[in-house]
Amino acid sequence: VSAALDSAILGDLRAQVRGELRVDPLTCSLFSHDASVLAVRPIGVFSPQDEADLKTAVQFAAERRLPLHARGAGTGLAGESLGAGLILDFTRHFRTISDVGPDTVRVQPGVVLRALNDRLASEGRRFAPDPASEVACTLGGMIATNASGPRALRYGYTRAYVRDLRCVLASGQSAELGVTPLPIVPDDRVETSLAAKLAELLAANQDLIRTCYPRTQFNRLGYLLDGLTTPNGIDLAKLLVGSEGTLALVTEATLRTVPLPVERWVLFLGFASLEMAARCAPLTLSAEPSACELLDRRSLALACEADSRYEQLVTPGVQAVLLVEFEADRPGDARRAGDDLLRRMLPLRQHGLAMAQPAETAEEAAWLWRLRDLAEPLLHSVRGAGQPVAFLEDVAVPVDHLAELIFKIQDVLRQRQVTAAFLIHAGAGQVHTRPFLDLTRSEDVDKLRHVAETVHRLVLDLGGTVSTQNGTGMARTPWVPIQYGRLHQVFRAIKGLFDPLDLLNPGKIVAEAAADPLTILRRSAKPVAAPLALRLAWPEQDLAAACNRCNSCGTCRTQTAAQRMCPIFRADPHEAASPRAKANVLRDILGGALPIEHLSSDELRAVADLCVNCKMCGLECPSKVPIPKIMLEAKAQHLAEVGFRWDDWVLSRTETLAALGSHFAWLTNHLLGSRLVRWFLARLLGISPHRQLPRFAPRSFLHQARRRGWTKPPRRQGRQKVAYFVDIYANYNDPGIAEATVAVLHHHDIEVYVPPGQTGCGMAPLAYGDVETARTMARRNLNHLADLTRSGYTIVCSEPTAALMLRQDYLDLFDENDARMVATHTTELTTYLWQLYEAGELRGNLRPFEARVGHHVPCHLKALELGIHGPKLLRLIPGMTVEVLDLSCSGMAGTFGFKESAFDTSLAAGRPMLERLARADLHFGSTECSACRLQMEHAAAKTTLHPVQYLAWSYGLAPPLPKWLYGGLHGKGRG
Ligand code: SF4
Ligand code: SF4
Repeated sequence: VSAALDSAILGDLRAQVRGELRVDPLTCSLFSHDASVLAVRPIGVFSPQDEADLKTAVQFAAERRLPLHARGAGTGLAGESLGAGLILDFTRHFRTISDVGPDTVRVQPGVVLRALNDRLASEGRRFAPDPASEVACTLGGMIATNASGPRALRYGYTRAYVRDLRCVLASGQSAELGVTPLPIVPDDRVETSLAAKLAELLAANQDLIRTCYPRTQFNRLGYLLDGLTTPNGIDLAKLLVGSEGTLALVTEATLRTVPLPVERWVLFLGFASLEMAARCAPLTLSAEPSACELLDRRSLALACEADSRYEQLVTPGVQAVLLVEFEADRPGDARRAGDDLLRRMLPLRQHGLAMAQPAETAEEAAWLWRLRDLAEPLLHSVRGAGQPVAFLEDVAVPVDHLAELIFKIQDVLRQRQVTAAFLIHAGAGQVHTRPFLDLTRSEDVDKLRHVAETVHRLVLDLGGTVSTQNGTGMARTPWVPIQYGRLHQVFRAIKGLFDPLDLLNPGKIVAEAAADPLTILRRSAKPVAAPLALRLAWPEQDLAAACNRCNSCGTCRTQTAAQRMCPIFRADPHEAASPRAKANVLRDILGGALPIEHLSSDELRAVADLCVNCKMCGLECPSKVPIPKIMLEAKAQHLAEVGFRWDDWVLSRTETLAALGSHFAWLTNHLLGSRLVRWFLARLLGISPHRQLPRFAPRSFLHQARRRGWTKPPRRQGRQKVAYFVDIYANYNDPGIAEATVAVLHHHDIEVYVPPGQTGCGMAPLAYGDVETARTMARRNLNHLADLTRSGYTIVCSEPTAALMLRQDYLDLFDENDARMVATHTTELTTYLWQLYEAGELRGNLRPFEARVGHHVPCHLKALELGIHGPKLLRLIPGMTVEVLDLSCSGMAGTFGFKESAFDTSLAAGRPMLERLARADLHFGSTECSACRLQMEHAAAKTTLHPVQYLAWSYGLAPPLPKWLYGGLHGKGRG
């Protein structure tokens, strides 16, 4: 691709299409990665709005010989969607699910598999193939790669479930591809002409087709030409499935669906050696399991680290485990099949079977199955220069050769002194080998080349295939002629039939001269060196290691209700908003794929602005990549180079503003009600005129605490000593929260000391990258708090964000003992109160409050990993019914939701929770976080309090509830 085409694309194509076209270096960097170890920089990224838009782009590309690469979520492991031409991103606009029928559904290629299954679940159905990337992968990607999952033993691959496809061909024409009846009657339709030529090719090469495919049950290398001719005719749709976007671009598909299983059951079989487990795997197949997975000792150890309950099964004598799963459409069938297998396996105790554990309940079956899901991503969190490399990934042999293959792979690894982890779909004879290598070292690249070539040849000698599941892509295209011999020429003829100009995803499956994949390896980030200095504390310089740990699996593109990450991606799902984009862009800058100057670029700033530091990806990323910290470092670097924007500077100074606002409360509250002032704030500071702003208290809580003597170390000896960290909102905006906190603690005979020198926790400046201001605030707090912890005080925060700063972020600002002491002795208020309850020390004289309350769980509370205790405390109040609204981020994210530019995104990010709260059956809101509270009162129009305020009232410690609170009971919230 000529760089000169840049301007042609920009000028000409943009003028002709309606979808977004991006050619900036950072966007190209984001789309140069998928979940493989490869990287290829595209010339640009185009997101067509509809089929007409796509056809325009295809015609444009055909005129200029510009390669096109269709892309879904970028979760492929073989570089199928990478390329140097123009990426066609189908995830932005092709997201419609339609025509849900009794056993079929129509989808566009950008539909995410999980979203489809959520929709089908209401009909009692699902799409059968179940790749591990289900939460992120798209149906377009699944069709392109003929995807499958661990349950392929029962359900097979995507190809079996595609009825027909609508496509745009390389000529720019639309085509409906399905079964063309034989004999073919010529007409003027392009589909008929393609079917006739294909039928001719297949007939002429039927002997090759019969003999050249491997003997394995599953195969994904090259085009799949078997089964295209059926009694009903020739099936062009089947040819397209697995063709990796090299023959046509799918715009719609009709898929067959299957009923949801009625029962799942799992059998855990622990073996004394990997080899013994592999030898026993074929014995399980006669029981017709839905899956049979083999885990090695390394994976098991990681899973045990993540969940120690597995240690009772993975005893020292267990070196490998077979997990055998059964699915059934009738109750009892799965368990019966499993019991039968267990009976037949027990005699193997003398031959290495060390442990056999059947699931007793459906929950236990799910827990046992989770063992396999936990292990793989955690491989990437292992520290050290060597990372597990997903390259020698996808080989399979006939299952009776599985043990032999594993033995020989181990031998090859031993010879080259390479350690590796194995993940084995034993039922399919498929082995994922993940060697631990440092691909920044040329010796390790050579080792990988040698091991991969030796193992691939071994596999072919055993009648196997180089690709079973993940596809051909750039990683395995060089092996297509080696595996298929003369059949490769037939593949080339088919490519010529559909795409004579080689426009569609060139370099995959058939290629003039396939690139050596090990020459296009993704560049790793290198440790930061002078003159660049890290702004946060990164022990052992592990910013680079943190970026490299992201394997681009794409799980953080999830939009399922079961997870919280990433609120900004959910509100506007595009690659730059995904957490992995943050790791990828920093890795490219620190690895030299992008010039270091990009650290201060507007494009980097735009990507960084899409992170609101909610911390949810840090918590939920299966490989534990610290994306939030990576982004804070990026923001700090950018700020150090470029300086503050005026509006961001103001929003990062919330404490100063709040102090001023509170000092002149009567004036500020009056002015903030004025339209003119709001107009002025919008123009000058970018604060949305639609956002309801918090009111200021005329006297700060710390001022009142001083008057009441709470800022002096208490003389009275309570049972426990608490130092209350107040933070900004409870100090300047709603001292009622702080007063309720002190009242409830005093009510339980607890000493409460309010350290007078404390300041805000510093999250606001930190979230904008102003590390130095955050550090100054943190230092001041540490100076007061560290000594208190040494005197036996527990630091209690009513604000989860403050607790998070003290427990986690201060450790990123100071690598020192005081920070560690404070982190260890800080807790969050509802957690503290619930511990009192569990110790039998929480008083029970609560008066009733008849109301239905919706409790929102804030992201920062989740990130604390201390448990969710607010709703449990509220349920202690007689008459109170509490619904936990763990549905989404509130979208407020500190000061993010105040910005005019972020107002819509903020509401969109919080929509699931806000819509539920707004319904009339909930009278009030509850949440621990003050920013979330502002959003809840604004967008759901429900009075919202901290749980401790409800408790204080119920204990009779707070003044009678104000009238507006009662008003909420009649559906008239304060907002
Ligand atoms: S950040 Fe985590 S979840 Fe996201 S792509 Fe990277 S490893 Fe996967
Ligand atoms: S911290 Fe939150 S906003 Fe930032 S990338 Fe992670 S999930 Fe998204």
